[in-house]
Amino acid sequence: LIEGPTGLTLVDTGIGLEDVRDPERRIGWEVIDAAGFQFREEDTAARQIERLGFRREDVRHIVLTHADPDHAGGLADFPEATVHLSAEELAAVEAGTAMGAEASRYAAPQFAQGPRWETHQPSGGAQTWFGIEAVPLSLGFESEVLLVWLPGHTLGHCGVAVETEGGWTLYVGDAYYLRVELASDDHPISRLTEMRAEDDGLRKRSLEHLRRLAREHAEEVTMFGYHDVEEFAEPPA
Ligand SMILES: [Zn+2]
Repeated sequence: LIEGPTGLTLVDTGIGLEDVRDPERRIGWEVIDAAGFQFREEDTAARQIERLGFRREDVRHIVLTHADPDHAGGLADFPEATVHLSAEELAAVEAGTAMGAEASRYAAPQFAQGPRWETHQPSGGAQTWFGIEAVPLSLGFESEVLLVWLPGHTLGHCGVAVETEGGWTLYVGDAYYLRVELASDDHPISRLTEMRAEDDGLRKRSLEHLRRLAREHAEEVTMFGYHDVEEFAEPPA
């Protein structure tokens, strides 16, 4: 969650209140069992943001790394937000939801309320961040927030880079599941990341970008992902 002078920006929404109320209709048991979803209302972004003393309407922007059910379920909880994502990801969502629940990795009910989408295109190399395709997002305040192309997990998957006082924080979304993937291809988790990748060649290329950042720019760039519990306890330096 990024606090700006004109409101809040939420990066990925996690599971939402509607998912907690009706997981079967929203996501379906097959996916829930496969991914190990846990539905606790107090863990939703909506409730966490309220506990911080904000209102849900204060969230003016959402940036989605990608639209898998564990990342997009909370969209409906923030009706005032403009939702930023790559154009390719939205195209995949629309194609997927048109195909129906059996054929798509995306959960159509999570988008039924009609989010106010704002899509972004890569610049074809004109704009980069540490050598990775990236475009700045206009969120109504000065600080730099960039959508950083890290495709492969899904076709339009992106990370989000935020300029901080000492450098940059890069949220990698699902470009890796566990941080150990930065160091090794042999960890058992690599089988799962491979299996879940829409395009595994692209995923590997994105991972190589992250490995290069970790090698050459560890001083300037702090990285974390969505799924590694160890990174929640204490953000890595
Ligand atoms: Zn995920």
